[in-house]
Amino acid sequence: MENIKKLQVKCVGINDFGQGEAFLDKKKKIVIPYMLPKELGTIEYDKYTERCKLIRLEKESNIREKPKCDIYQKCGSCQLLHMRYQEQLNFKKDLVNRLFKEEKIPFSFKEILESEKKSAYRNKMQVAYKLNKDQKIVYGFYEEDSHKVIPLDTCLNQSNYQNEIAHAIALIMRELRIAPYNEDKRIGVIRFALIREAFKTNQILVTIVTNGEMFPARSEFVKRLRARCPYVTTIIQNYNSRKTSIILGDTERVLYGDGFIEDYLCGIKFNISSKTFYQINPLQAERLYNKVSEFGEFTKDDVVVDAYCGVGTIGMSVADKVKHVIGVENNKNSVQCAKMNANLNKIKNVEFVLDDATDYLVKLAKNNAKIDALIMDPPRSGSTVNFLESVKKLKPKKVIYVSCDPHTLVRDLKTLLTDYSITNGALVDMFVGTYHVECVVCLERR
Ligand code: SAH
Repeated sequence: MENIKKLQVKCVGINDFGQGEAFLDKKKKIVIPYMLPKELGTIEYDKYTERCKLIRLEKESNIREKPKCDIYQKCGSCQLLHMRYQEQLNFKKDLVNRLFKEEKIPFSFKEILESEKKSAYRNKMQVAYKLNKDQKIVYGFYEEDSHKVIPLDTCLNQSNYQNEIAHAIALIMRELRIAPYNEDKRIGVIRFALIREAFKTNQILVTIVTNGEMFPARSEFVKRLRARCPYVTTIIQNYNSRKTSIILGDTERVLYGDGFIEDYLCGIKFNISSKTFYQINPLQAERLYNKVSEFGEFTKDDVVVDAYCGVGTIGMSVADKVKHVIGVENNKNSVQCAKMNANLNKIKNVEFVLDDATDYLVKLAKNNAKIDALIMDPPRSGSTVNFLESVKKLKPKKVIYVSCDPHTLVRDLKTLLTDYSITNGALVDMFVGTYHVECVVCLERR
């Protein structure tokens, strides 16, 4: 292909997504995934798309280590697997501190809480089943931004149980001649398996997503899965015949067990079904929530708003220290779950409101509501100007901002800093091997 050129380049930097950077002809910046600063390597450069692919390293960085996964570059989920763990932590901390400095935000993070589990930290595994070219049933994750399944044997980020179950399903499909779904022809039976594991209770939920209600040899399948993986505590069939990349359909049927599992986060019990949002790395989530509680220095007189509350985890984890918690969340399922979880734990001083967080805060500000502290944990896109301006009108003593994207965090902090000062902050590594970093920032009203 004439658009592809082979070149030797020296990597001179790393971008915010952990990709190497180099210059072509000393002026054009190019991005080379999986290359590290100071490395010398041969790449393939596509003139049209400007995409680069590292094909050989002539000089390796001393922060490089041999990745423990053979397919991570194809899969794309772990962008930093070739970097030593301590260096991953440095990369994350330096990135956030640099963004703060660039925007003149007067705070610098000293610590990043490392993940105790460097592998098998995820409590959820989602795999697609396919026939490969040799008509063999394979399973794996989707390649980034595509519908191509990258066949997998075991994924390091998942537990042994989760990997064993994904594998057992493929074996049983072969034994019982159950066809995997074919996306183009829209035929076949099994599309995905969603495996969720409660690390505190060892309960495991397996959801088999089928192309409609038909599931030939269903009871034999369940029998064999239980025999091969006796630690599975419940099995669900979910029907999804739609042409969509969304994994779960609306209708479900419990094939074995209760249809949900129970887990504990910060000592609070949560019922998790196939569709419930739940923290993926629960050990680190607990440490994150503990930081929120520590920074909050809550008292029994405090009224606290937990904005973007999901299933209410953060608000419930501080409920015993405060007078009242109001959680606000715009996802109906999550609010239902939050209410159910509060009942389950007999937590009486929390309420959950189904609303857009901005609309709700604007209303609170209009009504001159009295709130003492605000916790906010927005999605990657961050919050809105109207939300932040309403916070300033409401004048809570403290704002605790939990963020999964430091770029939008920095943008939002700038709006708050006219009235608030940053008094504390911590970084938490939730996703080992990736560029993602979780930030908690505590602001106090001046
Ligand atoms: N605090 C929770 C969830 C954080 S994820 C936890 O720690 O588990 C961010 C949440 O914000 C998601 O539950 C998402 O549904 C919700 N969300 C996104 N946009 C929103 C909006 N405009 N108003 C209210 N909630 C929103």
